[in-house]
This record gives sequence, C-alpha cells and structure tokens, in this order.
Amino acid sequence: MIAVRKGKTKILIDLSKCGPDGDIDPRNCTKCLKQCDRPVFHLHHVIVDGDDSWDPSYWQVTPVYISQCTRCMRCIDVCPVNAISVSW
Ligand code: SF4
Ligand code: SF4
Repeated sequence: MIAVRKGKTKILIDLSKCGPDGDIDPRNCTKCLKQCDRPVFHLHHVIVDGDDSWDPSYWQVTPVYISQCTRCMRCIDVCPVNAISVSW
C-alpha cells in the first residue's frame, strides 16, 4: 500500500491489487490516468528487491501531485479492482 498526503487530501493505491504485487499490470489498464483530468497520477517503473533493476516487468501508479486532486472520484469509479481510495 502506498499512501500519499497533500493538504487535507489522502490518496491510497493498493499495490496488492495493482502493481508489482497485484494481478493487474497498470500499463494494461491506465483507466485512472485517462479518467483523471488533473496531473495527479504518475505511471512509473519500480525496482523490486532481488530482481534485475533493468527488468521492465514492474510498474506502478503513484499519486504524485495530490494538490491537483479535485476529489471528483472518477478514478475510483473506473478502477476495476478497487485499488484506489481518496479521502480528506
Ligand atoms: S478524485 Fe478525481 S481529480 Fe482526484 S485523483 Fe481521482 S480522478 Fe483525479
Ligand atoms: S484504474 Fe486501478 S487497476 Fe487501473 S491502473 Fe489505475 S489503479 Fe491500476
């Protein structure tokens, strides 16, 4: 689970559902990135302990620019595995 806070908004991405430990590779979904009309999410490569740092298999979505979130909840509505939560 990755938690990022900015101001009063808190956005969580459950990596056990989407990301290196989850069933979903975010590169095959990207619904939250497409649905959000603000520059909140970042899709990026991650290095997993014990693996080749150049292995391109591991990616995750991280909420980076939380201050841009308008709390519209569209990302939550489109996520197929309920990996996202937004609270304040
Ligand atoms: S709640 Fe809306 S503005 Fe905030 S991250 Fe989700 S889609 Fe983007
Ligand atoms: S919508 Fe959900 S499953 Fe799809 S990339 Fe975003 S967090 Fe992952």
